[in-house]
Amino acid sequence: MPHFSHQNIQASSTDPITGFFNRAACFNEISQLATQSTSHRRLVVIWIGLDRFKRVNESCGHQGGDLTIFQIASRLRDRTQPDTLWFRMAGDEFVHLALSEDLDQAKKLASSLLDGIGVPLSLNNLTLHPTASLGIAVLEPDEFPHACLERADHAMQSAKRAGGGRIVTSGKEFIPGRLGIRLAHDELQIENKLHVAIDHGKLHLQYQPIVAADGSLISVEALMRCNSDQISPGEFIPIAEKTGLITRLGEWSLLEGATFARRLQSVGQQTSVSINISRAQFAMPHFPQTLHAALLCANVEPQRVELELTESLFMDNSSIVQINLRATKDTGVRISIDDFGTGFSCLATLKDIHASKLKIDRAFVVALPHDRRAFSVVSAIARLGQDLGMLVVAEGVESQEQADALFDAGVQAIQGYLYARPMPEDALLKWIRNRK
Ligand code: C2E
Ligand code: MG
Ligand code: MG
Repeated sequence: MPHFSHQNIQASSTDPITGFFNRAACFNEISQLATQSTSHRRLVVIWIGLDRFKRVNESCGHQGGDLTIFQIASRLRDRTQPDTLWFRMAGDEFVHLALSEDLDQAKKLASSLLDGIGVPLSLNNLTLHPTASLGIAVLEPDEFPHACLERADHAMQSAKRAGGGRIVTSGKEFIPGRLGIRLAHDELQIENKLHVAIDHGKLHLQYQPIVAADGSLISVEALMRCNSDQISPGEFIPIAEKTGLITRLGEWSLLEGATFARRLQSVGQQTSVSINISRAQFAMPHFPQTLHAALLCANVEPQRVELELTESLFMDNSSIVQINLRATKDTGVRISIDDFGTGFSCLATLKDIHASKLKIDRAFVVALPHDRRAFSVVSAIARLGQDLGMLVVAEGVESQEQADALFDAGVQAIQGYLYARPMPEDALLKWIRNRK
């Protein structure tokens, strides 16, 4: 591939171990090269990340790690023209920039680099078999050069996730380059919105009734809403779980939900409040203290609060989850199994769970009333749940036909738009009064 003279890059931008330029130089240089990119000779970025390099540092020490990096950099240099632009982007990551006539040429070079890296390497009486993940991105005509660099990085990460030792071209990953970057960007924005929402009191809970076959109100489920923007829990809860923000969100909803349970108690309602708890929140060592604090602050009877936990959590044999399950039971707070049937339901585990409710996921409900197989599964779950002493609830019920089929199948209570959508506290109290 054609290459460039790098006399304009300052010597101070050079990494002492590899002799490659540093990342700041890369950010500058890519903008320069982009101006030379044409439809015949497009700028190509190859991003290389060594696989499991941490292991080398751990087993051979940092000096051994440096020696390995030095040798790998020499191999990369040997397989390219002497004046090729090479950059060291991080400890074990390198970038190659070039103008290329076509993608195939870039792929051939990437393949030769991968072969070069893979040659066994001797270090301190050990033989290493290095491997790497490579990402390739070609600058699009209207693209900002740094975005192309990001796509190459993203493609390299995708190669790593697939097990390493391979080359991924941007656009061919599982989540194609630009889309993947956009997704990551959207997630960051949602995370920021959540921080703002927590700090400025922009979160609130809505409540959705759970109603028995005879029309009586069994309990209400607390569902979180973020009023600063139209983002749904389906979007923000997974991001909060990924970033650890769920602990703050969860502590807030626990206190808020318990406080509403107290309000219902003081207006003479027997209804309990079910609060969703994420696995990441429940697995925190201080979860029992948070629960105690919420019950105390709200001054509510524990049996008026219920925690909704997904079934996969019960299969977690880690001591912290088991300790927290016992501690929760000891407070007198009830537990229900949420989204039953969507995870890896395990009957062996189910027999050991002392929950008061079993909530059948909406996925089964949407197939009713016509799908006989779904009906059989729901009937079996309903029988099993009841035999194990749980109240069986179906979620997401939207039509009377679905409700009829569910009650025929032995489900005891339903939750869904058929009866009511989630609503704010005051609206729920009004809804209860009007039913009477
Ligand atoms: P989930 O706990 O299974 O809650 C039931 C979801 O079904 C709610 O979605 C509810 O609005 C929706 N739903 C109820 N009836 C119907 C219906 O008839 N049709 C349809 N299409 N949907 C119905 P929502 O409020 O968007 O919450 C989604 C999920 O986010 C919840 O699923 C729960 O897993 C999570 N979540 C919500 N609030 C919290 C919270 O405070 N903490 C935690 N950790 N998770 C929460
Ligand atoms: Mg729930
Ligand atoms: Mg559910």
